[in-house]
Amino acid sequence: MNFGYLIDMDGVVYRDSQLIPGAARFISELQDAKIPFLFLTNNSQRTRRDIAIKLQRLGIDVGPEHVFTCAMATARFLARQKPNGTAYVIGEGGLLHALHTHGYAVVDKDPDFVVIGEGRTLSYEMIETALNLVLGGAKLVATNMDPNCPTTKGTRPGCGAVVAMIEEASGVKAFSVGKPSPVMMRAARKELGLDTEHTIMIGDTMETDILGGVQMGYQTVLVLSGSTKTEHLCNYAYTPSRVVDSLAMLSHNELIGQFSTVVPNEMELAVA
Ligand SMILES: [Mg+2]
Repeated sequence: MNFGYLIDMDGVVYRDSQLIPGAARFISELQDAKIPFLFLTNNSQRTRRDIAIKLQRLGIDVGPEHVFTCAMATARFLARQKPNGTAYVIGEGGLLHALHTHGYAVVDKDPDFVVIGEGRTLSYEMIETALNLVLGGAKLVATNMDPNCPTTKGTRPGCGAVVAMIEEASGVKAFSVGKPSPVMMRAARKELGLDTEHTIMIGDTMETDILGGVQMGYQTVLVLSGSTKTEHLCNYAYTPSRVVDSLAMLSHNELIGQFSTVVPNEMELAVA
């Protein structure tokens, strides 16, 4: 069985609209060797097509089939939980498109779910509506719980910060689908047809990319080109399988050489 990759984008492939050096070379290496890979993002704002165009303009020639967003994971999850349901949505195009594609109607009254994603058009009235719908019995679902996101100007509040307002006001905890949730991590692996042992998660954030990968039993590679610095690593009870400065330091052949090394299982250790 071949290895394949789930690759976070922000802080791994690009920072805002700047390509991170080495990213295009690494992706070309995967494409030349026909290694399966999927870009994984906790940003629900854009569709997979929007994101593929962004990547193409940065010099990474991939189609929409190489992108998997938390909006897609959320819509698939809801469609399985309750087919042809209804949702009140705080979010933008990527989330609305995914929900519509999966048979959901977006409504302002009596929804099955209140779904929260990223957006830049948030108002107090939207929070108030969401709160009252949750208090009225709608189930609260978050596309992700990222507290904030780095930008070139500093930091912007993430989806998790908006969800926290509704959680605090309602006393109801949201169910979150995006990384590190196994719902999204497993769906992405299945999309590539990989098994657990041959799935490699590359990311820059310990709380989402690396935690999600570790919980699923995937191999994990932390890149230091984004939010995590080496001195932060001692704060976590879990460690990535590998830490590199950036994708520029990574070679597929060298990596699978490391990950293919057989680790004795508990039975073998006991016999020895
Ligand atoms: Mg990232």
